[in-house]
Amino acid sequence: MRILITGGAGFLGSHLADRLIEKGNEVIVVDNFFTGSKRNVEHLIGNPRFELIRHDVTFPLFIEVDAIYNLASPASPVHYQRDPVQTIKTNVIGAVNMLGLAKRLKVPIFQASTSEVYGDPEVHPQPESYWGRVNTIGPRACYDEGKRAAETLFFDYQRQHGVKIRVARIFNTYGPRMAADDGRVVSNFIVQALRGEDITIYGDGSQTRSFCYVDDLVAGFMKMMESDKPLLGPINLGNPGEFTMLELAQQVIEITGSKSQLKFMPLPQDDPKQRQPDITKAKAELGWEPKVDLRKGLEKTINYFSTVV
Ligand code: NAD
Ligand code: UDP
Ligand code: UDP
Repeated sequence: MRILITGGAGFLGSHLADRLIEKGNEVIVVDNFFTGSKRNVEHLIGNPRFELIRHDVTFPLFIEVDAIYNLASPASPVHYQRDPVQTIKTNVIGAVNMLGLAKRLKVPIFQASTSEVYGDPEVHPQPESYWGRVNTIGPRACYDEGKRAAETLFFDYQRQHGVKIRVARIFNTYGPRMAADDGRVVSNFIVQALRGEDITIYGDGSQTRSFCYVDDLVAGFMKMMESDKPLLGPINLGNPGEFTMLELAQQVIEITGSKSQLKFMPLPQDDPKQRQPDITKAKAELGWEPKVDLRKGLEKTINYFSTVV
C-alpha cells in the first residue's frame, strides 16, 4: 500500500512511518516543518519506499494514495499557542482538504484527535461518551476546538459522503524524537534533569496526566487502520496509569540520578486538573492495550535524550 502521513516529520508521525515501512508499505510524508524536523526521518531518506513532501495541509493536495493518516498539527501547548490562528486553520482546513482527498480517492482516513476534546473534565476517567468541558475562547481553544471541529467534519464526511473514517482520541504520549524544546512535560523534565537545571513544576504539581509510550500508541493507530469497518471511533488510545506531575518529576530524577531541584511556577490558564483514559472501547473493539509502563518508557526515552542533549 502507498500511505500518506500528514505531519509525518513530527514525533508520532515519524515512528508511524518507520513501522509502516517495516511492514512493506510505501510511505509519503507531507509536512510543513512547523514543529517537525527532517532529522526525524533522515534515516528514511534514500529508501525507495519513502518520499518527503514539504506542504502545508491548509492548501489542497492532489496525490494518489491507498490510505491517509492525518497527524498534521502542533501538539505541544507552547507551540500551538505560538500561532493560534495557524493552529485552528491546520486542524479545520487541513481536515477538510484531507477528507476531500479521501473522498475523491475512496480510501480510509485516520484522524489524530486528542484527549483535549474532553477539556478540563468533570468525568473521571474519561469515556468516549463524555462530551467534554472546553473553554471556547481560552488560549487552548485554537487546538481543542480545532480538534473538536475536525471530529465533526470526519463524522459528517462519513455520513454524507461515505468516507471510511478512523478517529483516535490520543492521550499524552511520549518517547524518543520528541523535540528537546517541545515544551511538553515529559521532554521538559528529562532535558532539565539531564542538564542539571531546575525542574519546572507548573502549579503545585498535583494535576494528573496518563502517559503512553509511543510504540504502544502507534500499534493502536495501525490496528485502527487495518480494520475493515466503515467507521471506527472515536476511540481513546492511551495508558490508564495516572500520575501527578510531582510523581513524574520524582521518577525522572530517580532514573537520571540528577541533582536538579524542583522549581514551582504559575499554572497556565485552563490547564486540565486530571486526565485518564477509559480504554474499555479500545480493548473491546481493537483488542488493544498498552504494554510499556511509565518506568520502562521513561528509561527508553531518557536513553534517547542523553544522546541528544
Ligand atoms: P509534533 O509537533 O511532533 O508533530 C506534528 C507535525 O505536524 C510536525 O511535523 C509539524 O511540522 C506538522 N504540521 C503542523 N502543521 C502543519 C501543516 N499545516 N501542514 C503540514 N504539516 C504540519 O506532534 P506529535 O506529538 O507528533 O503529534 C502528532 C499528532 O497527534 C497531532 O495531530 C497531535 O495533535 C496529535 N496528538 C498528539 C498527542 C501526544 O501526546 N503526542 C496527544 C494527542 C494528540
Ligand atoms: N481536495 C484536495 N485534494 C483532493 C480532493 C479535494 O485537497 O484530491 C480539497 C479540495 O480542494 C476541497 C476540499 O478538499 O477544498 C474538500 O473537498 P470536497 O470534494 O469535499 O469539497 P468541494 O471540492 O466540493 O468543496
Ligand atoms: N507541566 C509542568 N512543567 C512543564 C511542562 C508542563 O508542570 O515544564 C504541566 C502542565 O501544566 C500540565 C502537564 O504538565 O499540567 C502536562 O503538560 P503538557 O504540556 O505536557 O500537556 P497537556 O496535557 O497539558 O496538553
